[in-house]
Amino acid sequence: MKSLTVYCSSSTRLDPDFHEPAKIVGRELARRGITLVYGGGGIGLMGEVARTIHEHGGHIVGVITHTLNDKERGYVQSDEYLVVDTMQQRKKQMMERGDGFLILPGGVGTYEEFFEVLAARIVGEHTKPIGIVNSHGYFDPLIDMMHHGIEHQFIKEAVLHELLHIDQDPVKVIDALAGAERNGLDKERFMPMGRK
Ligand code: AMP
Repeated sequence: MKSLTVYCSSSTRLDPDFHEPAKIVGRELARRGITLVYGGGGIGLMGEVARTIHEHGGHIVGVITHTLNDKERGYVQSDEYLVVDTMQQRKKQMMERGDGFLILPGGVGTYEEFFEVLAARIVGEHTKPIGIVNSHGYFDPLIDMMHHGIEHQFIKEAVLHELLHIDQDPVKVIDALAGAERNGLDKERFMPMGRK
């Protein structure tokens, strides 16, 4: 795995406990020589991951929009800093340029990006692995919601158990993503229709 796209919070009001896993991700990516692809922001967990990567000599691709450049205090020190016109272009670049996806705690923007990469994986638009760092149980309600969908046959069990790598420890999630096989455009296994 040469690059990893990280989606996470832009909030400046988080408990410091949520910053710790972001620092671990930054350190680990730099140590493994994996390029960070992210939304280019200098605030919240986004800024934390980016700054930590640079503290440890890693490499960053930031993708931001003109409008958010100010609001999210664009991390212009990114080794490659792309300023695009629309959110759609931003997400497209971020989805294409990472060899896998890592979700750290975040709000609506992070949720949106997570569901977009997961839905694209289910229909076979890509075969990249997806990991969730469940820091301090932040994503427990999301995981419960997926179980609820599985219970009522809206979501295949394999989506939760085979497509997602979930752990509270960022290092374990990165290990799982690095070791994941990118096999199978076997959409039937993951799409809601058909057998279990
Ligand atoms: P949040 O999780 O809400 O703090 O947002 C995390 C990041 O997602 C921020 O950089 C937001 O600008 C970004 N974001 C929010 N909505 C979208 C969207 N529709 N497309 C792309 N990025 C988005």
